[in-house]
Amino acid sequence: MSGFSTRAIHDGQAPDPLTGAVNVPIYASSTYAQEEIGKHRGYEYSRVSNPTRTALEENLASLEGGASAHVFSSGMAAIAAMVTMFKTGDHVICGSNVYGCKPRLFGHIIANYGIVFTYVDTTDAEQVRRAIQPNTRLVHIETPTNPMMGVTDIRAIADICHQSADHRVDLSVDNTFMSPYFQRPLEFGADIVMHSTTKFLNGHSDGLGGVLVGTTPAHKEAYEFVQKCTGGILSPFECFLVLRGVKTLAVRMKQHEVNGYAVANYLAGHAKIPTVLYPGLPQHPQHVLARRQMSGYGSLITFETGSLENANAMLRRLKICVVGESLGGVETLISHPATMTHAALGEAGRAKIGLTDGMLRISVGIEDAEDLLEDLDQALSVL
Ligand SMILES: *Cc1c(COP(=O)(O)O)cnc(C)c1O
Repeated sequence: MSGFSTRAIHDGQAPDPLTGAVNVPIYASSTYAQEEIGKHRGYEYSRVSNPTRTALEENLASLEGGASAHVFSSGMAAIAAMVTMFKTGDHVICGSNVYGCKPRLFGHIIANYGIVFTYVDTTDAEQVRRAIQPNTRLVHIETPTNPMMGVTDIRAIADICHQSADHRVDLSVDNTFMSPYFQRPLEFGADIVMHSTTKFLNGHSDGLGGVLVGTTPAHKEAYEFVQKCTGGILSPFECFLVLRGVKTLAVRMKQHEVNGYAVANYLAGHAKIPTVLYPGLPQHPQHVLARRQMSGYGSLITFETGSLENANAMLRRLKICVVGESLGGVETLISHPATMTHAALGEAGRAKIGLTDGMLRISVGIEDAEDLLEDLDQALSVL
């Protein structure tokens, strides 16, 4: 098998047979001419399949080492597709610290169909083992978690999911924070990988998207069916943007990490910042595990400023770093999880996972590190 970047640049994207164009065209076509009843070239209608989407799906399946990939209109649409396949009475175990919109979707919509959710701290594998019931169908984890940067042992959870030969429990891993460049959960026994492609895979903050990478024919069949039935698919233009982004994933991730490391070290040495959460720091509680299952530590860092007022004072002073939701773009983005991504959890929900009002999450971009450090330093001088 070729190397990661070779696959990122070539898999699913042979030059266009008609013209030789090196980029897969944006097939802006909702339908496809048929020669006669039942005779077509593999494409009938773009909700079902589209050639630009096929290229991206083949590419992403290759990068994660999966059997198939299916892309959706956002990360949340991908999550919704994954749980839509369950039935009344099915049980799902989800990490207690996950992207805030997931428990909102599960609790307010999916639970109405009689699907039951249990939330546990997946950094403690025993909690997952104890939560498994005869009707458990799925364990869903994020590692590292958003925004507390807790690292879960993928292999340990996969072993628990697969301990019974006649009771299949799938492990699905949200790999958004690391991208397949730094972490490939399927190599540690996971069954499904999910991404918000909005983040590092696209990488340029110019399009939403989501993907489910599966390992079995059943996954392929199920996700193809959800695409066809519910229609939350990624448009050809957005597929093109992700294909374009993925070509530079490796070089971007390398630079993200160099800059992330520099910022984490700077913050860890700052007298006014009591807590810095970054798996690359030796003081991170799961640093050794992170080193084992990730080939880099990425560029997401959560840190404590002491209060909402301090956090806001600092954000107001930033000149280069952009204040806003999202992550994984080439530009440095800083968010306030308590009022942005994790507002839906409520105060009690945030307290449970240790998320305070003074915490900020930074997604370090690929600008010049010296400029970022200078910007952070002048902004933090208000503390
Ligand atoms: C952003 C994000 C999502 C949701 O993805 P959208 O593309 O915004 O719908 C899910 N999980 C994680 C970890 C995310 O960061």
